[in-house]
Amino acid sequence: MIGKVIKNIFGSKNERELKRLAPLVETINGLEPEFHALSDQALKGKTAEFRERIGNGESLDVLLPEAFAAVREASVRALGMRPFDVQLIGGIVLHEGKIAEMKTGEGKTLAATLPLYLNALAGRGAHLVTVNDYLAKRDSEWMGGIYNFLDLSVGVIVHGMDDRERKEAYACDITYGTNNEFGFDYLRDNMKFDKDDYVQRDFCYAIVDEVDSILIDESRTPLIISGPVEHSENKIYGEVKPHVINLKKKQTSVIRSILKDVRDRVQEGQLDDHTIEKLLQVKRGDPKNPAFLDILAQNQAFKKEIDRLENVLSAQKLLPELDEVLYCIIDERSNAVELTEKGISLLSGSGLGDFLLPDLDDESHLIREDETIDDQEKDERLKQLEDRFIRASDLLHSTQQLIKAYWLFEKDVQYVIKDDQIVIVDEFTGRMMPGRRWSDGLHQAVEAKEGVSVAEENQTLATITFQNFFRMYEKLAGMTGTADTEAAEFNNIYKLDVMVIPTNKKMIRKDYPDAIYKTEREKFQAAAREITALYEKGQPVLVGTVSVEKSEMLSKMLKRSGIPHSVLNAKNHQREAEIIANAGQAKTVTISTNMAGRGTDIVLGDGVLELGGLHVLGTERHESRRVDNQLRGRSGRQGDPGSSRFYLSLEDDLLRIFGSERISSIMERLGMDEGEPIEHNLISRGIENAQKKVEAHNFDIRKHLLEYDDVMNKHREIIYSLRKDVLMEQGIDEIITGMIDDKVEDLVEKWIDPKEYSEDWDIKGLRDHFSRLFGIRVGIEPEEVGEESLDALKPEDLVELLKDQVKAAYEKKQTIFGKEDLREIEKLVVLQIIDDQWIAHLQSMEHMKEGIGLRGYGQLDPLREYQKEGYALLESLMDRIREEALGMIFRIQLMREPPEPVSRKKRRAMRMSHGGETETPATVRRTEKKVGRNEPCPCGSGKKYKKCCGANA
Ligand code: ADP
Ligand code: MG
Repeated sequence: MIGKVIKNIFGSKNERELKRLAPLVETINGLEPEFHALSDQALKGKTAEFRERIGNGESLDVLLPEAFAAVREASVRALGMRPFDVQLIGGIVLHEGKIAEMKTGEGKTLAATLPLYLNALAGRGAHLVTVNDYLAKRDSEWMGGIYNFLDLSVGVIVHGMDDRERKEAYACDITYGTNNEFGFDYLRDNMKFDKDDYVQRDFCYAIVDEVDSILIDESRTPLIISGPVEHSENKIYGEVKPHVINLKKKQTSVIRSILKDVRDRVQEGQLDDHTIEKLLQVKRGDPKNPAFLDILAQNQAFKKEIDRLENVLSAQKLLPELDEVLYCIIDERSNAVELTEKGISLLSGSGLGDFLLPDLDDESHLIREDETIDDQEKDERLKQLEDRFIRASDLLHSTQQLIKAYWLFEKDVQYVIKDDQIVIVDEFTGRMMPGRRWSDGLHQAVEAKEGVSVAEENQTLATITFQNFFRMYEKLAGMTGTADTEAAEFNNIYKLDVMVIPTNKKMIRKDYPDAIYKTEREKFQAAAREITALYEKGQPVLVGTVSVEKSEMLSKMLKRSGIPHSVLNAKNHQREAEIIANAGQAKTVTISTNMAGRGTDIVLGDGVLELGGLHVLGTERHESRRVDNQLRGRSGRQGDPGSSRFYLSLEDDLLRIFGSERISSIMERLGMDEGEPIEHNLISRGIENAQKKVEAHNFDIRKHLLEYDDVMNKHREIIYSLRKDVLMEQGIDEIITGMIDDKVEDLVEKWIDPKEYSEDWDIKGLRDHFSRLFGIRVGIEPEEVGEESLDALKPEDLVELLKDQVKAAYEKKQTIFGKEDLREIEKLVVLQIIDDQWIAHLQSMEHMKEGIGLRGYGQLDPLREYQKEGYALLESLMDRIREEALGMIFRIQLMREPPEPVSRKKRRAMRMSHGGETETPATVRRTEKKVGRNEPCPCGSGKKYKKCCGANA
C-alpha cells in the first residue's frame, strides 16, 4: 500500500528510466527530416562516415541518435516499416546492455536492428541469438534488407553448415543464429589445432531474443559435446591377465601356508611377536582373505598389534624384508598395490618383456658417453632404451590395475555384470551406476578380469552452460514479452536490468478469471465445449497445453466432435510458423504447446476484429506465471481486441503438488458440483502463490547449478586461455620455460627436505626423476659442483642450478631442431596433452561432485567442499599437463620422430547435445588449403608434408 503511494508520488524506477530516454527519442525524431532528405546513396554513405568517426574516437553513445535515425529511414525505404518511438526506446535499452520487455507483436525483431547496426559499426561483430534455426534464417533475411541498404553485411548460422560457411557468417558485421549453434561453435573452436580453423571472432555484443526462454528455461541443461573414448591400450590387459592369475595362484599358496602356521600357533597359545609378524604378512599379501578375517574377528586385539608392527617396521624401513616371501603387496586403505622383487622376476619370465624399469639416467648416459659407436647408432640405442622404458611402465601399470581388480574388487559388491558390461555399484548407496567408469585403466582391468567385451564408451569432450557462455560477451542484451517477473534472477545472475517498454497502442485484451473444475476430465470436457462454441461463432481460438500428450488428448476429443483444428508441438519450426501465422483467421482452432510457433506473429483475419479478436484458452497453469503470460500474450497484439482464460482442475500438478490446504478448504466451503466450474479470486491468488513457490524453487536450482558451474567455469577459462596462447603461438617458449620453472621447483620440493643435511638429500631420487622427465643427466654430483659447494648449497640454489641446466638442454634442443620446427611440434604436442588432460579432468570433477553429494557432508557446506576439492583437482591437472608436456618435448630428441600424441591428432567423432535433444554428429569439415612441402603434414603425423602424405605429390 505504502509502496504504491510512494510510486505514485515519485514514479516507479521504470517510469523514471523511460523519462530519461525521452529526450533521446526526441533527438532521433528531430533528425528524421534531415535523413529523409538524403538520397539512397547518401544514406548508405552514412555507414562509412560513422565508422570513420568511431575511428577518430567518437563513442557509440554519441553516435546513437544519428545511427538510429539512419536505420529508421533505411527501414522505411527497404521494408516499408517506420520504427515506432517505443521501438526506439527498446533499441536504446538494448544498446545499453539491458533486457527490454516488449510485448508480443510489438516488433522486437525490428527494434533490435537499431542497436545491432550501431554496435556493428565498431567492427567487432554483433550477434543476434534466436530460439530456433527457422527464426534465425527468417529474421536475418527479413532484416537483411535494412543492413544491406546501409552497406553492412549480415550472416546466419544454422545447423548443418560446415566450418567454412560458419566462418564467413561470423566474419559478417551482424550474425544471426541460435543459442545452441553459438555455444557449440565456441566449444568446437576450443578443440581445434589450427587457428585458421576457428570460426568465431569476438564476444563483443549480443542480443538474445526470447531471452527468458534461453537464459532461464533452458539454462538448466548445459551444452555437451561428447565422443567415443579411444581404447588403444586395452590389449595389454588381456596379455597380462594370465600372468596375474598365475601370480595370484602362487601368492595364495604362500598365504595359505603362512595362515596354517598362524593357526597352529594360535591354537598353541603362542601369541607372540612372531605370530603378529606372520599375520602382518598375510595382511599385506591378501587383506581380504576370509580365513585371515576370521582370525581377526576372533582375536580382536590382533588388529591393533598388526597395525602397530606395520608402523614400526615401516619407520625402520624393514618392511621389504618382511615382504620378501610375497609376490605383491596390497594396501587396501590407500588402494595401492606394489610388486615385490619376487613378483617382478616371476612376471619378467612371462615373455611379455621386462617388468623392471630401466634406469634411464644411467643407461642413457652410458650410451651417450660411449665412444665406440657413432651418433646414428647412439640415437638408435637411445630409442631402444626409450621403447623398453615405455613398454615396462605400460606392463607395470596394467599389472598393478589387474592386481587391484583381482584382490580388491569383488563381483556383486563393487560391481555387477549386466548386459556383458561392468556396472559400478556405488559404495555408499548400493545403487548401480550405469555408464560410469573407473579411471586410469582400472575399469579395463576389471573388464579383462571378467572377460566381458569392452564397452563403446562415451565421454564428455567439452561442455558449457548458457549462463557462462553468454556471460562471456562484453555487452549482453535481451528482449522478450515476459521478463519482469524474473527481473530479480536476471539481475542476480546476469547483471541484466529489465526495462518494461510501453506498448505502441493501448493493450485492450480481456483476461478472464480462471475456471476451476474438480477433475481433469471435467476440465477438458468443458474446454472442448467452449472451443466448439467459439468455432461455431467463428472466433479463432489458440489452445495452450503443457505437454504434447495433452495436446493429443484434446485433439482426439475435438476430432470426435468434428471440429477441424491443427496441432503444434515444437518439432518442425518452419511448418508450425506457417500454421500459427494463420491462427488468427476466422473459424480456426489451433492447439499448441508453449514452445511451438514461437516468434511468429498472429495477424487477425477478416471480420475477426468484430468477433472479439483471438481468444486464448489455456488448459493448465504452467509452473511459472511468466510462461502463462507468454501464452496470453499471443492475443491482443498491437492494440487488437482479444481475450484469454485458463481452465484448471484440482488434479493439475500445480494444484496437487503445490496448492495449499487453503485452496482445497475454500473449494470445500464453496462446494463444487459435477461439471460446474468455480471462479474465486482467493483461489486465483492461491494458485499464484503456488506458482511463486515453484518459481522460487526453480530459481534456487538454477542458482545452485550456476554456483557449481562457476567452479568449472574458472577451470575452463584457465585451460582455454592456455590453449589459445599455445595455439596462437603467443610465446609458447615462454610457456614452456614457465613450465620448466614450476616443474623444477616441484621436483626439488618433492625430493629435497630443507630440514635435512645436504648429505642426507635423496640426490639419486632427484636425478632419476630429472632423467626420466627431461632425459638429461643433471650435474649435481660432488665432483661436478665441488664437495664444499654441495654442502653449502641451499635448496633455493639447487633449484636455480637445476633450472639453468634444464633450460640449457632446452636451448640445445631448439638449436638442433631449429626454432620454427620445434615450435610447431611443441604446439601440437601441448595442445593434444591439454585436450586429453582436460577431458580427464571433466570426468574427475563429475565424479568428485557426485561423491560430495553422496557423502552428505554433515556440517560442511557441499559447495565449499566442491570448490576446495575442485581446486586440488585443478592443480593436479596443471601439474599433469606440465609433466606430460615437458616429458614429451624433452623426449623428442630421443625419439627423433615426434612422439605418439601428435599422431593421435585426428578428428574426434563428436555428438552435440543440449538436454534431450541430440544433434546428429556434425562432420566438421576442414577447409582444404594448399599445404607447403615443408609444413607439417595435415594428416597429423607430425612429419613434414613432403616426407609423409605429400611424398608422392
Ligand atoms: P515480436 O517479436 O515483438 O513479437 P515481431 O518482431 O515478430 O514482434 O513483429 C510483429 C509484427 O509487427 C510483424 O509482422 C512486423 O511486420 C510488425 N511490425 C513491427 N514493427 C513495425 C512497425 N514499426 N511498423 C509496422 N509494422 C511493424
Ligand atoms: Mg519475436
